[in-house]
Amino acid sequence: MHTTNLKPSSLMPEAALHSFVVEAGDPFVFEIAQGQYVRIVDLEGNQAVDTIFYNAQDYSDRYSAQDTIREQGNIYLTTGTALLSTNGRVLLTITSDTCGRHDTLGGACATESNMVRYDLAKGHMHACRNSFLKGLQFWNHGMDKRDIASNINFFMNVPVTPDGKLTFEDGVSDADKYVELRAEMDVLMVISNCPQLNNPCNGYNPTPIQILIWDKNV
Ligand SMILES: [Zn+2]
Repeated sequence: MHTTNLKPSSLMPEAALHSFVVEAGDPFVFEIAQGQYVRIVDLEGNQAVDTIFYNAQDYSDRYSAQDTIREQGNIYLTTGTALLSTNGRVLLTITSDTCGRHDTLGGACATESNMVRYDLAKGHMHACRNSFLKGLQFWNHGMDKRDIASNINFFMNVPVTPDGKLTFEDGVSDADKYVELRAEMDVLMVISNCPQLNNPCNGYNPTPIQILIWDKNV
């Protein structure tokens, strides 16, 4: 259950096809072609990167936390994990990981959950569900609230205790740690670079991330 599989990548940032910086709290939407690699870099450390992946040819087929956990027999994601879709297809494979802990149980933060978890007065604060919606509206391909399904929280440390409770712990990530994935089919990546100020997983301080994409022939 605590398996981590640290493995650095041999891909050089200078050889990347695209490089983007996603500012703290912003959404980011990008299509990744089959065979391309995408690296998410935690530039300053302890940033939760909430991410949903969709089959780019059929958005109703999207990342499934349940199927991914069942098939790999591990609740945490790391090098070697195949990310499965709701139709049982492999969307992407994690090929490198220098952090070792990525959560897919905790879900995305919402204004409602922020009020329950932290305080009624936190209800107005920015949350990932809103950022996902903002990203989908920007993408403008007909997706809405119903398309926000299970997600991955890259770099987020949500251990399960021996008595089965989920706890939100201090992050185990650090500046410049990254996770890298190979797209096994054409996928749409929708990120909410978590704007949460109340969660220790974010270090109470949302920070920017970098997205690097390499072509399939690297
Ligand atoms: Zn969030």
